[in-house]
Amino acid sequence: MQPKIIVHGGAWKIAEETHADHIGGTHVAAEAAWDILARGGTALDAVEKAISMMENDPTFDAGVGSVLNRTGSIEMDAIIMDGKTLAIGAVAAVRGITNPVQLARHIMQDTDHSLLVGEGARRFAELRGMRLCAEAELTVEREIIRFKRLQQKPDYHLLDEFAPTPIEPDPQGTVGAVAIDAAGNIAASTSTGGAAYKLPGRVGDSPLVGSGAYADNTTGGASATGHGESIMRVVLCKTATDAIAHGKTAQEAADYAVKVMFERTGGYGGIIVVDHQGEAAFAYNTPHMAVAWSDDAGNIHARIKS
Ligand code: ASP
Repeated sequence: MQPKIIVHGGAWKIAEETHADHIGGTHVAAEAAWDILARGGTALDAVEKAISMMENDPTFDAGVGSVLNRTGSIEMDAIIMDGKTLAIGAVAAVRGITNPVQLARHIMQDTDHSLLVGEGARRFAELRGMRLCAEAELTVEREIIRFKRLQQKPDYHLLDEFAPTPIEPDPQGTVGAVAIDAAGNIAASTSTGGAAYKLPGRVGDSPLVGSGAYADNTTGGASATGHGESIMRVVLCKTATDAIAHGKTAQEAADYAVKVMFERTGGYGGIIVVDHQGEAAFAYNTPHMAVAWSDDAGNIHARIKS
């Protein structure tokens, strides 16, 4: 089986001056994941690596660079899923760690549970020997400025951020990755700081299985980004992989899932998909989507699609 990796760095209106950062950040993440796959590594290791790198890149709304909630704090959500066993590891509203995807992987592999939230998730990170960090380490100037701007907009509505003409300039992007390895195993992962100015305790689609990500070796894998409250209502990633089960190609499945979301909820967002034959695709109904993927020769292509 020819391995494949596709990653995303969010779907929304991506400001021109940040295009290079998005292209660069998704490109190096896809390249690092590809190196793992090309050496015979697993899809799980590949997506964890790609997501960790984008969590460490302040360009994206995940790990360092996460958006601030309504009290000025960072609460992060992440998921990783193994398409071979359907095992899931996820964290929600976790604070003070740099790489939520790594914590999600520990939850998947070292516990009988699938999803840990808040303080319990952070304590488990500490137990697993992960480094805890101060919130200041995750907080970037851009997000402090955004937070102060949103404090002046009492009628700010989360959905506006993902509309074709967002009222809030330069929203940041969740990160996602889907891979298939040489053994035909599929993995998917998503990580985010969530929606800017969200209520404390708000959990979006990202850590919810089937919504923010899904992986099943018999159909395919997917990772979503966009307006979480819309994505979860149509269980976007499972909708896409079910469409593959019903005979659609990866591209048709991605297009179909985004269409269903818009028709049923009016929501905006995007999705990346890899099917069980190694075909990669993406679809979105936002002005832009940042994506990078490997071709059959192992070359990485990164684009801001509009
Ligand atoms: N889907 C994420 C959320 O609603 C945000 C994003 O994808 O940018 O938390």
